[in-house]
Amino acid sequence: MRPDPSPVPKGRRQRLEQDLSTCLPRHPALVLVTDLDGTLLSGSPQWRRRFYRWLRAQREHVLHVFNTGRDLASIARLLREETAMGLEAPHLVISDVGCTVACGASLTPIPLVVEPIERRWRGQAERVLPLLRTIPGLSPQPVSAVRRLAYLIDPDLLDRSRLHAVTAHGVDCLVSGDKYLDVLPAGVNKGSTLTALLDWLEVTPDTVVTAGDSLNDLAMFETGLPGVMVGNAEPALVEALPLLRRVYRAKAHGCGGIVEGLRHFGHGALLAGHF
Ligand SMILES: [Mg+2]
Repeated sequence: MRPDPSPVPKGRRQRLEQDLSTCLPRHPALVLVTDLDGTLLSGSPQWRRRFYRWLRAQREHVLHVFNTGRDLASIARLLREETAMGLEAPHLVISDVGCTVACGASLTPIPLVVEPIERRWRGQAERVLPLLRTIPGLSPQPVSAVRRLAYLIDPDLLDRSRLHAVTAHGVDCLVSGDKYLDVLPAGVNKGSTLTALLDWLEVTPDTVVTAGDSLNDLAMFETGLPGVMVGNAEPALVEALPLLRRVYRAKAHGCGGIVEGLRHFGHGALLAGHF
């Protein structure tokens, strides 16, 4: 009797797919990574409807990833609310400013990708919470933030230099829109988690396009992947543009800006017949 052949080691992508309740496009022509508020949810209603229709039509060719500061509960609510506009769940979700990665269909976190982030965060909240409570101008955001802490800022009261004492504990502080503070595991952001996820997906960087509008998208643009800064980007992000090698500044807002950027990066053929 012949011995059983030794099991063939699985590729990273195959291991990732075991944790998903959705099928990914086998050979995507494009991996489109979009922020939500101000980006995929922005633009005129006509542009949004057209763009969401295009995403549905290209489902087998375009692997769509949300990359957002929202938490999973808020994304679930959003997908219900935006059904009338035609927005469908993406293939994959990066939420909580890079602290969670989930299957787009089930919104169930993917342990393979989340566990390394979890390890970096263990014990951190307990260490920094007492200090954060003493800083005027911060009020906890009513979100179910996991692997991070989320605050609303009163810019008149907050002395930002006090955040240095927080980062000294080995966490990152990210302020966006002069309104929000996220306290994150050190080195974890929208860019680092996207890079880790692309590694699991085994895709080449040239098939990726990212899109965003606010300062928490800077880390995504700093990855060096092709990126679209939409026309309505916040001024603090626009200031960083000269340093961002592969980022295209679109004129149009939101979804219109994404389409403009996709043309710029040579994906016009995928848009044919729709725009
Ligand atoms: Mg945004």
